Amino acid sequence: MDLWFCQGFSEPGAGSDLASLRTSARREGDEYVINGQKIWTSSAHYADWMFALVRTDPEARKQLGISFLLIDMKTRGISVRPIITLDGDHHLNEVFLDEVRVPVTNLVGEENKGWDCAKFLLANERTGIANVGLCRERLDYARELASHTLQAGRPLIEDVKLHREIAVLDAEIRALEITNARFLLTESEQRRLPPFASVLKLKGTEIQQEIYQLLTRIAGPAGLERRTPAEPSLAAVNARYFYSRAASVYGGSSEIQKDILAKTVVG
Ligand SMILES: Cc1cc2nc3c(=O)[nH]c(=O)nc-3n(C[C@H](O)[C@H](O)[C@H](O)COP(=O)(O)OP(=O)(O)OC[C@H]3O[C@@H](n4cnc5c(N)ncnc54)[C@H](O)[C@@H]3O)c2cc1C
Repeated sequence: MDLWFCQGFSEPGAGSDLASLRTSARREGDEYVINGQKIWTSSAHYADWMFALVRTDPEARKQLGISFLLIDMKTRGISVRPIITLDGDHHLNEVFLDEVRVPVTNLVGEENKGWDCAKFLLANERTGIANVGLCRERLDYARELASHTLQAGRPLIEDVKLHREIAVLDAEIRALEITNARFLLTESEQRRLPPFASVLKLKGTEIQQEIYQLLTRIAGPAGLERRTPAEPSLAAVNARYFYSRAASVYGGSSEIQKDILAKTVVG
């Protein structure tokens, strides 16, 4: 059986400063009773479950009063409201939690120690968001598209400026692949996840955005089509360009990654 999880971390007023989150979970016997709101929750409208950060100790200092809970999305008191993004699609949601009762057995790890789970998951998420394989696949596609697209009767790929841009991106993706391989080859206990994850996330998302910008230029008006049966991979190039702008925000913004790198690498 497949189970879909959404990530209930961000809240209005608690994004970059995630530890300010206010969704509360008060203990009543064998249950937690949850009240609050999550926002920007990707795919909450499909999810069976949410893994969420909730405040279990309002008196404790920020990170110390947070717990990690699994919440069945069918539980009474949960409502999901769509947020439509710049690409015109429904990926994101607001999730409201009103007296939502969750068994204490759904707690992951220890009460008030949820921040440790969150840090571990965020580092893994950032490594995934780098989408190293996708970068390579999309650049190959851009190259192929430019070979078949004509400008003044000549294939676009013959344009020296475009050719150079593709070559620069190729080199950057190679560096990303090597960084990813170094990460994978490092003994797990020595990986020092945050710096690796932040470098991959920062560079990977910059490269993705540059590739979608390039694809948009190459595709021209055809990229505006939302569905193109004759050329399915051309469809929605523009929509993907718009959505790619969010990549430097989700999973922790680029500014936050630079801040982490400044603290952990530069010192
Ligand atoms: C497409 C998309 C999908 C998402 N999916 C999910 C999801 O599934 N689950 C979930 O929990 N969240 C999700 N998020 C939320 C995402 O994690 C937050 O948007 C992100 O952490 C930024 O928080 P914020 O939006 O509150 O912006 P803010 O924290 O308010 O930041 C606003 C701006 O200020 C800058 N800034 C903030 N603090 C600093 C600082 N200390 N130094 C320098 N600059 C700073 C930021 O870089 C940003 O540019 C998603 C967001 C997007 C866009």
